Amino acid sequence: MRCQNGRGVLDFQEMTDISLHLRKKLGRIATLAIPPAGRVEESADGTRKWLVNVGAGQVVETVHIPEPNRSTLCISSQAGCAMDCPFCATGHSGFNRNLKAAEILGQVLLANRALGSPSAITNVVFMGMGEPLANYSEVVPVAKLLTDDHGLGLSRRRVTISTVGLVPRIRRLAEDCNVALAVSLHAPTDALRDELVPINRRHPIAELLQACWRYAEGLASRQITFEYVMLAGVNDSLDDAARLAGLLRDRPAKVNLIPFNSFPGAAYRCSAPEVIDRFCTHLRSRGVVATVRRTRGDDIDAACGQLAGRVTNRVRVRLGDKRFRAAGACAS
Ligand code: SAH
Repeated sequence: MRCQNGRGVLDFQEMTDISLHLRKKLGRIATLAIPPAGRVEESADGTRKWLVNVGAGQVVETVHIPEPNRSTLCISSQAGCAMDCPFCATGHSGFNRNLKAAEILGQVLLANRALGSPSAITNVVFMGMGEPLANYSEVVPVAKLLTDDHGLGLSRRRVTISTVGLVPRIRRLAEDCNVALAVSLHAPTDALRDELVPINRRHPIAELLQACWRYAEGLASRQITFEYVMLAGVNDSLDDAARLAGLLRDRPAKVNLIPFNSFPGAAYRCSAPEVIDRFCTHLRSRGVVATVRRTRGDDIDAACGQLAGRVTNRVRVRLGDKRFRAAGACAS
């Protein structure tokens, strides 16, 4: 049931359906504020990107993707990212800090407000800047507020956390908040994934997939989405497709192929459309559910992997570097 209290009121004194005593108390101990939206950019396809100022010169990005039957918001969980995936613009900009729960949820409130209704957003994906499971203690309360009937009342199927594969955190998430899960797989072998998603050196594919299958047992949809970016000549051969199918066949999995979106300084190219189609067909012929993600908002750099915001790289963290811990990447 959708929460009847979700009216988007930003002043405790206007919340006349709660007691005067509680209103006064809230006024003393809490504040209600939506992060200031800086520049807004709108794509020819209707995708809209907000540059959200989170203070000290740091700007993160939030993207609204309207579709005929749903309205999806892609939110950021960190200013920058420490995961260092070489094909991602956010990774190139480095890591500054974890966002607070209020700054993360604030992006949804900001979008609802801008779109003119407290329930305008129907789906939320943690696929903006940052690695959500590296900011676990702030992201999980947000996921709970999004799905609570007294919060935004979205179904757990409509809230998706996307991760590079922080295995201990996937295990914990299964206990804490079983929202939909997307995993950035991107490669069918450890040798290649070590290069494309460096956290793989710590949590290799077999360990990751085992955590995924456990996670899927508690899911309403029972299916994990595996994201796979299509990089020309790197991970797009039919052998790669066959190996990928070998990993996922007969499992609660679906594959989402993402055409690579370029950005300044990128060292990769996108696979040709016919190569992507052939890869997709190959997966399907081997019994794996696969779709190609339609690129949205690339004319305003709002597509997957193009979100760079404005981040000062405060901590240049690398796997094996002790500062990696400071970026929240390896605690269990
Ligand atoms: N850190 C999380 C959330 C980011 S989600 C994660 O990695 O899952 C963004 C998705 O877009 C991820 O699957 C990411 O790997 C993918 N991506 C990153 N850069 C990309 C690019 N340049 N083109 C296409 N997809 C990209």
